[in-house]
Amino acid sequence: MSMSRSGNPDAAEKMKAPAHQENEKRKRILVVEDNQLSLRLLNQLLKVRGYEIFETLQGREAIDLARHEQPDLILMDIRLPDICGLDVTRLLKQDDQTKTIPIIAVSAFITPGDEKKALDSGCNACIAKPITLHNLLRTIESFLSRPFVPQ
Ligand code: MN
Repeated sequence: MSMSRSGNPDAAEKMKAPAHQENEKRKRILVVEDNQLSLRLLNQLLKVRGYEIFETLQGREAIDLARHEQPDLILMDIRLPDICGLDVTRLLKQDDQTKTIPIIAVSAFITPGDEKKALDSGCNACIAKPITLHNLLRTIESFLSRPFVPQ
C-alpha cells in the first residue's frame, strides 16, 4: 500500500516528464534574411524539421532578437538592408551575452575571399546560395547535435 501511494505520484511525474523535456530540448533558430520569400521558405522548412524559429529581415533587429531570445543557432544572410551580416556577426561575437551562439553565414559568396571574410568576422560556418536542403540541414545539425565550443 505504501507502494501504491508513492507509486502514483511517481507515475504521474514520469508521464509529464517526456513532453516537458521535449519542449525544453526543442532547438531555437534565429533566421536573418531580407528576402521575404527566402525567409518564408526557410521558416517553413525548419519548422517542419521541429525547430522553433525566430525571424527578422534586418540586421539591427537580429542583434536585439539574439540577445533577448538566446537562440541555439543563427542563420545569417550577409547582404542586409541596414547593416551587413558580417558586422552583425562581429557585434554578436563581441557581446558576452551572444558570443557562444553559433552563426552560419548564408550568402552567394561571389569571390573566394568572401567566405574567408565571413569566417574572419566570427561566423562559424558558411553555406553558399543557392542553398541545398541537404547541406543546410547537415550544417545546422552539426552544430546542434553536439555541445558547441566557442573559438
Ligand atoms: Mn540578403
